[in-house]
Amino acid sequence: MRIAVICYHSCPMARLGERDAGGMSVYIRSLAQGLGRQGVQVDVFSRRHDSIDPFIVEMGEGSRLIHVEAGPPEALKTDLPEYIPTFIENVKSFVAEEGTEYDLVHSHYWLSGPVGIALAEEWDKPHVATFHTLAEVKRQARSGMEDPIERSEIERLVAAETDAIVVSDAHERDFLARLYDASPEKVAVVPGGVDIDLFHPRNKEEARRRLGLNGDKVILCVGRLDPLKGVDLTLASAALLEDRNHVTVILVGGDLENDPEAKRLVDLADALGMTDRVRFEGAVPHEDLPWYYSAADLLMVPSYYESFGLVALEAMACGTPVVAARVGGLPSLVKDGETGYLVPWHCPEPFAERLEVLLAHDDLRNTMGKAAYHRAQGMAWESVVERFATLYEDLISREVETKEAV
Ligand code: UDP
Repeated sequence: MRIAVICYHSCPMARLGERDAGGMSVYIRSLAQGLGRQGVQVDVFSRRHDSIDPFIVEMGEGSRLIHVEAGPPEALKTDLPEYIPTFIENVKSFVAEEGTEYDLVHSHYWLSGPVGIALAEEWDKPHVATFHTLAEVKRQARSGMEDPIERSEIERLVAAETDAIVVSDAHERDFLARLYDASPEKVAVVPGGVDIDLFHPRNKEEARRRLGLNGDKVILCVGRLDPLKGVDLTLASAALLEDRNHVTVILVGGDLENDPEAKRLVDLADALGMTDRVRFEGAVPHEDLPWYYSAADLLMVPSYYESFGLVALEAMACGTPVVAARVGGLPSLVKDGETGYLVPWHCPEPFAERLEVLLAHDDLRNTMGKAAYHRAQGMAWESVVERFATLYEDLISREVETKEAV
């Protein structure tokens, strides 16, 4: 089986935690490498975003990343729709020249959807789409975060034209049906996974020593600095803690020089009198994150929306309890009162109350951390990869049967 994966707008091998490189990059990278290891040939096509990157990058056994020319490498995300036709033509030429034949096309994110539609039509093969996030869902979660006007229309078109849509959580199937008229029969729910070889509990004392932490309680947040992540709520709730002078808030992720959200959060920490309690780490290499999760007393995920919430699963795999907003896919990961807490309101007081309880009780944190660890063990990437391989095989054989019947 040979699969063409389309990730037009963001390179899956880019530095994580900055700009658009987050959960989707980890997801595509893990899936491509995992499928490659299981004998599926995977080519990931992404827009050339850096003129010095090699044209073809080996991602691992059986998986390649191909950087395709389409517009200037430094093009802004807002200008990317303009270069989609060039990208499609250049993928077609590359594939024709190499003489490669794909059995299926899998597109990721709305910008890749039209590419997936065009290539699947050209090659007469099935097309699977994964949206990761949807414009209408984001709009409902936090108004004022407007996407390009054409995004919803394109998502609607992709939802109608593709052979299958993969979502990470059942709530997205309902959204797709309700907001995009997508037929629920073609939506497959495949939860994301975690690399349990990388994310496992490390010695807490060593983790704290490595990060230069003292005996303070540690609240951790990990993710791109995007207003949708609600990191302001972490700062505001930590500021309400009775023992706030013995708490360190660590914010991992973001480009501290260039992200407008970074400046907003620095100003907020100052306004709350929390500047000396907050550490802005910027983007941290994925491989170093287990030390952060292990050093922390808890991970806070106060997002306004998360389609899945990989960071929650990574923290759990490291034995760290999670205090999360009750939104999107997070309730499927975090079991309230068992592996952490779910908070249904986006205001600091109820979050602070949960932080207070968890930080004050070592036994409770240990028990919840252990339960979180055990829950994460059932969600290793290997099982996710197997489910994808089965889904692809079914779609490919269905396509063959349909053609034979005609
Ligand atoms: N991440 C990272 N370094 C950072 C910040 C984030 O490696 O500095 C990774 C993190 O480990 C996780 C992903 O980026 O795997 C974020 O995924 P999530 O689903 O939580 O958020 P998304 O980016 O999809 O909104």
